[in-house]
Amino acid sequence: NHVIGAAWDSTSSKQDLYAITELPDSKRLRILVTGGAGFVGSHLVDRLMMAGHEVIVVDNFFTGRKKNVMHWVGHSNFQLISHDVVEPIMLEVDQIYHLACPASPPHYQYNPIKTIKTSTMGTINMLGLAKRVQARVLLTSTSEVYGDPEVHPQPESYWGNVNPIGPRACYDEGKRVAETMMYAYKQQDGVDVRVARIFNTFGPRMHPNDGRVVSNFIIQALQNKDITIYGSGEQTRSFQYVDDLVEGLIKLMNGNYDQPTNIGNPDEYTVNEFAEFIKELTKSGSKIMHLEATTDDPRKRRPDISVAKKEIGWQPVVDVKSGLTKTIEYFSKVLEESGEIVPT
Ligand code: NAD
Ligand code: UDP
Repeated sequence: NHVIGAAWDSTSSKQDLYAITELPDSKRLRILVTGGAGFVGSHLVDRLMMAGHEVIVVDNFFTGRKKNVMHWVGHSNFQLISHDVVEPIMLEVDQIYHLACPASPPHYQYNPIKTIKTSTMGTINMLGLAKRVQARVLLTSTSEVYGDPEVHPQPESYWGNVNPIGPRACYDEGKRVAETMMYAYKQQDGVDVRVARIFNTFGPRMHPNDGRVVSNFIIQALQNKDITIYGSGEQTRSFQYVDDLVEGLIKLMNGNYDQPTNIGNPDEYTVNEFAEFIKELTKSGSKIMHLEATTDDPRKRRPDISVAKKEIGWQPVVDVKSGLTKTIEYFSKVLEESGEIVPT
């Protein structure tokens, strides 16, 4: 049973149709998504709303934007709450996807103390809520818990190599202690937990100014500006499209496996190769420019996803090229609408 609802889609910047499943009351869950107005959160909200659930978004709009979820405002299954997770909140829910936390290095380093408070106090508050209402809670942790890894690719059993006092520590150590708290609440109070270790993810609705490599390179290429590579460009990352991540989060939340699980696409590139790839896909005349390396930049990163395959039956299905094509289309529209595009 589907109800077709018209909604404004900020991904395609047009009036779009969403098929929303009609669930019986017994199957409809109340689901909290913290950070639901952000890049990943808003795609997750779309999936949960279309599956017919009630969705509550809690966000302080630090890096998230109302327009990412605006198409759901007014729907009877949707609620948007402006709230900072560092403060407690009383809600009645069945599941909690806890995403609230700035994710790009410039954003999480902008106010490191706030980033630490968000990961620690914010996660304690969500665990306290989960304990009170007996909800299952999923933390979006990160491949950054592996730091600058000495094991390649990275399996969940690797404990990591993190500088505890470097500029990335507020994020890395914040997420590491958030994971510690998840398992302390599980052991001490029986809270039902899930931990996703997410590897670099890209797609429409990434913040154009968030400084991550995918958004920076695409915008620079579309504008024929220099593509800025930090350091030698020999460092590697593995990139996953956001739809794959959302599928992985939903499978992890609804499966039986409760140990940390890598969610990422093992397709690995050096930053130099990635810059060339973006130039080719955008047919850009941009020049490549090397800038100073950033401190503690991990030299290599690629997920071992055998746990996700075995325990939750998940693996990525979108290849990087088609994901990038959609993301390039999205940023072209964003630039066009802001009048900033340079014709190619
Ligand atoms: P994002 O910055 O787009 O989204 C984060 C959201 O959290 C934003 O809407 C922001 O306003 C909100 N937020 C931040 N601090 C808050 C607070 N104190 N109270 C309430 N809301 C707050 O980032 P994203 O890429 O969508 O990341 C979502 C989650 O996934 C984060 O937890 C991030 O650590 C994790 N993650 C993302 C990636 C990636 O590549 N995108 C990789 C690893 C982990
Ligand atoms: N990077 C780059 N130029 C940019 C932005 C990022 O060379 O304009 C590099 C960065 O130094 C890192 C990689 O790209 O090696 C990925 O950076 P991002 O900020 O996207 O994510 P990270 O994995 O570092 O959190």
